[in-house]
Amino acid sequence: MTLNYKAQNQFPRHLQQVRPPQPLQASTKAVHGGATRSQFSELSEALFLTQSYVYESAEAAESRFNSKNPGYVYSRISNPTTKMFEDRIALLEGAESARATATGMASVTAALMGQVRAGDHIVSAKTLFGSCRYVLEDLLPRFGVEVTFVDGGDLGQWRKAFRQNTKTCFLESPANPTLEIYDIAEIASICHEHGATLVVDNAFVSPILQSPLELGADCVVYSATKHIDGQGRCLGGVILSSEEFMRKHVHDFLRHTGPSISPFNSWLLLKGLETLPLRVNAQQASALQISNFLSDQEMVTRVIYPNHKDHPQYELVQKQMKGGGTVVCFEVSGGKSSAFRFANALSIIKISNNFGDAKSIITLPSITTHQRLSPELRAEMGIPDGLLRLSVGLEDVNDLINDLRNALRALS
Ligand SMILES: *Cc1c(COP(=O)(O)O)cnc(C)c1O
Repeated sequence: MTLNYKAQNQFPRHLQQVRPPQPLQASTKAVHGGATRSQFSELSEALFLTQSYVYESAEAAESRFNSKNPGYVYSRISNPTTKMFEDRIALLEGAESARATATGMASVTAALMGQVRAGDHIVSAKTLFGSCRYVLEDLLPRFGVEVTFVDGGDLGQWRKAFRQNTKTCFLESPANPTLEIYDIAEIASICHEHGATLVVDNAFVSPILQSPLELGADCVVYSATKHIDGQGRCLGGVILSSEEFMRKHVHDFLRHTGPSISPFNSWLLLKGLETLPLRVNAQQASALQISNFLSDQEMVTRVIYPNHKDHPQYELVQKQMKGGGTVVCFEVSGGKSSAFRFANALSIIKISNNFGDAKSIITLPSITTHQRLSPELRAEMGIPDGLLRLSVGLEDVNDLINDLRNALRALS
C-alpha cells in the first residue's frame, strides 16, 4: 500500500499533507490518513465551514478556474475538510480516488447514472436495499435504461443476463437483509469479459472487512451513515474507484448536479474513521458470540450469520471477507406477531432502522427498510415478514445476550 501524494498539490501552500512512514496498517491509516494542517498547526483536523474561497488577485482567480493553479473554488465541488475525509477513506480502501456525497443513496445514484445513457443496459443482483432497488427498477428505466435483475448467487444467471449494451452491474454483498454473499471476484471477471464495470455497495461490512476493488470491482459505494459515522449523527456517502473511472463517470455528474456533503458532516465522518477499525472489530466479535447464543435457543427457528459454518456461502465468506460482520439476522417461531412481541420486549437493544451503530439496533425489514416492496417481491428476495435484523453495537456483549434472553422469554 502506497500513499497517494498527488492530492497534495491541490492544497494551498499553507496546508501541508502529513506524511507518515509507510506501509501502514488500517488503524494507523484511519487515524492519520489524509490529514492536512493549516498555518495554525492544529492537532485535530479543522472544520472548514465555507462555501467559497478568496483569491489574491483577479489573475489568481483566473488560474484557479482554468485549473492552471490547483486549489479550491467552491464547496459544491471540493472543500478542505471533505478532501481530508475523501483522502482518508481512499487510503483505507486502497482506492486512487474518493468522492463524498450527502447520503449513501446520492453515491449509489451518481455511480450508476454517471455511467449510462438511454439505450444502455444494467445487470443487478435482485436482493437490494429498498432505495437502491427503486433507482434500478423505477428511476433508471424512466430514462430509457433497461435493468435485468438476477439471483446474485447464481453465476449462470449473471452470465446469461449480459447484452451488447450492458454497461455496468450492481450488487450488495452481504445483501441487505438476507446476508447472502456474492462472489465479487467471479462476478467482476464476468463483467469485464463483457466490457461492463462492476459497482459494489459495501455498506454492510465497511472497508475494514472487505475490499471489493482488490477483488476486481471497478467502483465501491458506501452509505457512510452506517459504520463510518457509527454513532448515529449524520448522513453521508462515498464513491471510490480509480482516477480514470472517477474522471470519466462521476466527476462531472457530482460537480454539476450537486449532491454535495456538508463540510460539517465530512468532519464527523472523518473523525468517525479514526475509530472505525476498533468499532467494527469489537462489534463483529460480539455479533459472532450473539449468533452462537441465538443458534442455541429453542424459540429461534433460523439464524443467518456469514461466519457460521451453516451459512450457505461460508467458504466464500472465508475467501472474500475478514469475518462475518456486525449484523445477525434471525427468525423466532410464531412469525410476524412473535417478532413484534420480541422486539417490544427488548430494553437495551433499540427498535430503529440504522445499522453499524455503537448502539445495538433491531429492525424488522418487512415493515421498514423493505416495506415499499410487494409481499411477492419480498418473498422472492427471501425476506419473511417475521425476519429480524440485529445490528450489534458496542455495549457489553453479556448485557446484550441478557436482553435477548429476556425478550425470548416474553414469547413463551
Ligand atoms: C443505508 C443503505 C444505503 C443508503 O444510504 P443512505 O446514507 O441512507 O442514503 C444504500 N445501500 C445500503 C446497502 C444501505 O444499507
